[in-house]
Amino acid sequence: MRNDEQYMRLAIEMAKAGIGQTSPNPIVGAVVVKNGEIVGLGAHLKAGEPHAEVHAIRMAGEKAKGATVYVTLEPCSHYGKTPPCADLLIEAGVRRVVVATTDPNPLVAGKGIEKLRNAGIDVKLGVLKEEADELNRVFFHYIATKTPFVTLKYASSLDGKIATATGESKWITSEAAREDVHRYRAVHDAILVGVNTVIVDNPSLTVRLPEGGKNPIRIVLDTHLRTPLDATILRDGQAETWMIVGSEVSDEKKKRYENENVQVISMSTPHIDIDELLHVLGERRITSLFVEGGSHVHDSFVRAKAVNEIVAYFTPKLIGGKQAPTPIGGIGFASMADVMQLEIRRVETIGPDIKIVAIPK
Ligand code: NDP
Ligand code: ZN
Repeated sequence: MRNDEQYMRLAIEMAKAGIGQTSPNPIVGAVVVKNGEIVGLGAHLKAGEPHAEVHAIRMAGEKAKGATVYVTLEPCSHYGKTPPCADLLIEAGVRRVVVATTDPNPLVAGKGIEKLRNAGIDVKLGVLKEEADELNRVFFHYIATKTPFVTLKYASSLDGKIATATGESKWITSEAAREDVHRYRAVHDAILVGVNTVIVDNPSLTVRLPEGGKNPIRIVLDTHLRTPLDATILRDGQAETWMIVGSEVSDEKKKRYENENVQVISMSTPHIDIDELLHVLGERRITSLFVEGGSHVHDSFVRAKAVNEIVAYFTPKLIGGKQAPTPIGGIGFASMADVMQLEIRRVETIGPDIKIVAIPK
């Protein structure tokens, strides 16, 4: 017979099925076990659709009575788009519930566990908690701050250049690394770039993977609205595009950009303040933001300390040149005492390139 950790590990694997498609909800997996036999499995796949526990309990049917349920996140206790899962587990007559981590959502926050215990169910909390927390770090960040989890990505040569001195940047890294980037795009609610990147590269900012994938909303920081009207992201209709502008852009000018897929969003000040931006995006239910440059935009995010994770690709090439741009341009920090300190989480090779994932300390 397997132990609690082994069943919870399976529940975590189930939860992963929902990665990138449950926003603004967390990803959750559930496993129902009766007499050492797995009788139900479930994952939450999309906001508004059944929670993991519902799928797993339905699969278990009559066998749920007296069973143990393993769930990666505390069962919900409130009426949202679906009835509370805590009630469902009680009605199904389960004997024991093993939970990896509590739900920080103020609507739940321990109340789900309390409800189960009050109904006489034996509840064990904290099995594989660290892994379960890592799984939902985007959701937890969003619930705690009401702003998106920000991942900053760049690709540079081994000497830290993102383009040549003449501005050529296609392509710095290998196809394998670029495919990895597309995988990040597919699991983010939105992708963000500065207006210069749009002008210089005219990118489409869509997901192009062999297995397909959902396009994120495309966001451009464009204080004065100088994006060319024939830019791909305004024309292709492949995904929504949001143009972020300063307070001084006229309604008349905004109208020229707006259409079915393009929205223009004005900030309250003449310049785009990153803190305000993140709150506005949070209100619009953007829980995760993938910042893809350029260097000026990266600098603004870094100096605002508005970065939760950094994904950096290094390619074995030397570009050189004092004038060649680096990943973080703009002003930077003046003093070593102020620089952003990082902790390296992962180092991998992707084809010929190296990928480093780091988080601010
Ligand atoms: P950016 O793409 O970072 O755009 C900067 C512009 O965005 C600013 O000049 C500003 O223009 C506007 N903006 C509005 N609000 C802000 C804000 N709060 N902070 C910063 N910018 C803001 O331009 P860069 O010139 O730095 O970088 C572009 C280059 O980088 C391109 O050549 C591109 O190819 C390269 N690149 C390389 C990548 C890589 O990983 N190798 C990735 C992405 C780009 P305004 O005042 O008019 O609004
Ligand atoms: Zn639920």
